[in-house]
Amino acid sequence: MSNKAGKGGSFILERALSSSIAVPEELPPEVKELGQVAYEFCEKEVISRVDDFENSETKVQTNIEVLKLAGEQGLLMTEIPEEYGGLGLNLSAATLLAEKSAQYGSFTVSMLCHTGIGTLPILYFGNKDQHDRYLPLLATGEWLAAYALTESNFGSDALGARTRADLSEDGKHYILNGEKIYITNGGFADFFTVYAKVDGKHFSAFLVERTYPGITIGPEEHKMGIKGSSTTSVILEDVKVPVENVLGKIGEGHKSALGVLDIGRFKLGIGVMGNAKRIEGVAAVYANERSQFKSLISKFGMIRRKFADMSAKIFAVESMGYRTAGMIDEAVEALDHSAEDFSSQVGKVFEEFDIECAIMKVMGSETAAFVIDEAVQVHGGAGFIEEYEVARAYRDERINRIFEGTNEINRLLIPGAMLKRSMTGRLHVMPEFMKMNKKLAAGEDLLAGFEDMPLGDLAKAAESARLITLFSFGNTIKKHMAKLQKVEYVMGMGEYFFEKIANMVMHSFAMDSSIARATKLIEMYGEEKAANAVKLAQLVTFEGITKVLSESQELFSSLGDGDAATIAKFRADIDKMTFVPAMDLMAIKDAVAEKVVDLQKYVV
Ligand SMILES: Cc1cc2nc3c(=O)[nH]c(=O)nc-3n(C[C@H](O)[C@H](O)[C@H](O)COP(=O)(O)OP(=O)(O)OC[C@H]3O[C@@H](n4cnc5c(N)ncnc54)[C@H](O)[C@@H]3O)c2cc1C
Repeated sequence: MSNKAGKGGSFILERALSSSIAVPEELPPEVKELGQVAYEFCEKEVISRVDDFENSETKVQTNIEVLKLAGEQGLLMTEIPEEYGGLGLNLSAATLLAEKSAQYGSFTVSMLCHTGIGTLPILYFGNKDQHDRYLPLLATGEWLAAYALTESNFGSDALGARTRADLSEDGKHYILNGEKIYITNGGFADFFTVYAKVDGKHFSAFLVERTYPGITIGPEEHKMGIKGSSTTSVILEDVKVPVENVLGKIGEGHKSALGVLDIGRFKLGIGVMGNAKRIEGVAAVYANERSQFKSLISKFGMIRRKFADMSAKIFAVESMGYRTAGMIDEAVEALDHSAEDFSSQVGKVFEEFDIECAIMKVMGSETAAFVIDEAVQVHGGAGFIEEYEVARAYRDERINRIFEGTNEINRLLIPGAMLKRSMTGRLHVMPEFMKMNKKLAAGEDLLAGFEDMPLGDLAKAAESARLITLFSFGNTIKKHMAKLQKVEYVMGMGEYFFEKIANMVMHSFAMDSSIARATKLIEMYGEEKAANAVKLAQLVTFEGITKVLSESQELFSSLGDGDAATIAKFRADIDKMTFVPAMDLMAIKDAVAEKVVDLQKYVV
């Protein structure tokens, strides 16, 4: 990667608000138009056919028809280069498209599976011949794609796969045997990226066409939610895959398997955020129709508070998402676009931003869960009745915390990646921690210098969260470094610490991104027009710093082994870097809620 482009995870090392970030408000008009096309497509072609999607007799055919229609309208080809019939747009544009296409869970899953984990392995890890043969078909939706990694005994531990691939005697084919489960789009996909171990040892990826003899597609799973999407097993019995269809190198299947999950996670976070926006609007409409105690329920404080909290969480995910997309686009821009391995270099950029992608997955899915749960509550008993959209949305959202790597696995990934990069010198986390300790010992004010900034109080709180996070990470590593070399420790006791650190990192990123966006909106539109964004950033900041503080209390109680004096020393240091801004939280929430209730939608 060029020096110009930012590095993944670097927000942990940079003083809060030290960089200007990309925001959705500055997307070019033509991209916004494409977003509108996607939104209107969903309203017209998807929402109108929800009953066909949800009906087990018609869902496969409906998926095929609507996906192909989306393909005809250019909605499946955003990131595919123009030479292969795609639009060759950047990630920021694809992000808006993913957000606007996410109006109904089942279709979102089917579409993002095709454009994301279905198409991106070949796009980023395939060779020219493979691109020539398959990308034009995938770009238009003529062929639909799926990604087959999970097996019955290997889910989170996906690289363990038992599916085998053995080279045929004439050296022309790999013979695949095994069974993949829970494969999205399995019921109709024409094209699968299948992961298998060559000679039972070397984890590798294969491009498999549905028509290859030996493939059996299992029956549709009966699911709790996203019932309108297709999920099946894929059984491979002596399936002959031409050697030309090995994706990447033998033994390097993990690169595409995991690399593509980074972008899959990012897009999932964006998609569910888009859906959460819709559901917040649905709840606001209901709250303005339903009266109790001779008053609209939208006038009740506890109902209004829900709209404020929903909006703040959505704002945080939206701000982190477009910021991340902007950073990735900047890194991709800096690559040599004429290089033969350009696509694979793009794949590596996503890997560089794996921390941000994992944050998007966890915070996006947990925000959607929160928003949709509150939307059901706003509906009261009606929220439990299937004829109301929120009931289905409630069942549909649950999967988001499970697939594309469970939220536990993604939480592990965040401090895990920080540790790995710190040890290899790619991210100087421990040197920064040492510097911070020296400053603390010298009695320096670590939070000085924010006074003259437009949102100085909020920026100071974001810096406070970042420093406490760094302090927590550094002390955890210092104390447990030897044990953290052992996988059994990391996956045992180590996870208690890692989970806390992951939560702190996520909130730090959310705060910094939300405040940076509000600051930019003040610059773009002036204080009056950016007033609501500032309020949203205030809410994100307050929640973030209080969460970081409570997580650090729990973490240091164990880092201090329960010893009162040691814990008191840690607390004294944390106090020196703690700043919780003063604000009239309830008045802010009421003002944010007022806008949502008035406009009946999420609004910045
Ligand atoms: C509707 C649906 C669609 C799917 N689509 C696809 C698809 O298209 N392609 C595909 O390949 N797969 C797909 N999957 C599979 C999905 O990715 C896996 O279900 C998921 O990764 C979890 O694996 P698992 O079910 O085996 O759970 P397990 O790995 O058995 O996990 C069980 C629990 O243990 C926790 N756990 C596991 N390891 C750890 C750890 N080290 N530390 C802490 N906790 C841990 C998990 O977080 C979880 O809470 C889909 C699944 C569903 C339900």
